Amino acid sequence: MGIELTIEPLGLKDILDKRPLVLAGPCSAETEEQVVETARQLNKIGIKIFRAGLWKPRTRPNTFEGVGKQGLPWLRRVKEEFGMYTATEVANVKHVFEALKGGVDILWIGARTTANPFAVQEIADALEGVDIPVFVKNPVNPDPDLWIGALERINNAGIKRLAAIHRGFSTYEKSIYRNHPQWQIPIELKRRIPNLPIITDPSHICGNREFIFEICQKAMDLNFDGLIIETHIDPDKAWSDAKQQITPSQLESLLKNLVLRNPNVENIEVLTTLEELRHEIDRFDDKLMQILEQRMEIAEKIGRYKKQHNITILQTTRWDEILKRRIEEGKKIGLSEEFIIKLFTAIHEESINHQTKIMNEMDQNQNI
Ligand code: PEP
Ligand code: MN
Repeated sequence: MGIELTIEPLGLKDILDKRPLVLAGPCSAETEEQVVETARQLNKIGIKIFRAGLWKPRTRPNTFEGVGKQGLPWLRRVKEEFGMYTATEVANVKHVFEALKGGVDILWIGARTTANPFAVQEIADALEGVDIPVFVKNPVNPDPDLWIGALERINNAGIKRLAAIHRGFSTYEKSIYRNHPQWQIPIELKRRIPNLPIITDPSHICGNREFIFEICQKAMDLNFDGLIIETHIDPDKAWSDAKQQITPSQLESLLKNLVLRNPNVENIEVLTTLEELRHEIDRFDDKLMQILEQRMEIAEKIGRYKKQHNITILQTTRWDEILKRRIEEGKKIGLSEEFIIKLFTAIHEESINHQTKIMNEMDQNQNI
């Protein structure tokens, strides 16, 4: 299905078109002093867009759920005293009206809201006729269509200054990340909607300070457009997401250390070498495809054979053996266990599908 979004540049005056576009500020606005002091320090290091959550979607009840509209005048002070743009999350129609009335410059839709088309549609309806940039976070579940659907709903309401925020995806499995980045999903979004800016949220991906830099670097290496980074004057004492927030001075050194590589290479020598290397990769990919084709043919043969001898498709002990052996081998050649499990699970699933198809075809033929 073709995606037609009408997207215009964010049009934030005085904001350079230089990558990365940076939004920084606390997870939550807590007090007037905390908001203003954080903004003062961020302004000093050249940050132009201040983020702060006023209405906080919390996983469990009886935790701090944000100061609500009481924080709007604090954000207004940030605008007036430091000339920064302000951004906050809206999750329902009431939030939209209050944020607009309070003069907030940019709205974002949170991950839990994006996952709910009814909620997104209500927000979209409330935004009809308003000209304001809206950033849409990815839904908590790894579903690119749900993300695109939310962007379409907002766009259909006439909002053209749109961006997507990549904040990672929930997984049940334990991982070093709070929300797994699943980079292939924002990459796919970029492929399908090339002029949509993508802003990475390393804070919510990581859940702790440790990996924030490497996630930012990766986002820049993928040529994404911006970063939204939770920043607090006293991170350990933050009322929400304390472990993942950094200080303005940590943010300053993070941004200084980011390496921005050039997406468009002009040097002819570099270009030729790259072309050659890409060509080699293509040749290996061709070989991989051939091998997969041959492997599936054998799987089908096995399917036929099992059918003739009345054996079930799946023999778990055999599958366990395959996986164990390949994980061991993978370790020796520098391939991670996570990768081997993903790769062989996908190949195995496809083989089973081929076998099932063969068995069903044979059944149908017998019925004729
Ligand atoms: C946030 O940005 O503080 C937030 C609640 O994010 P998310 O919707 O990504 O969980
Ligand atoms: Mn947060």
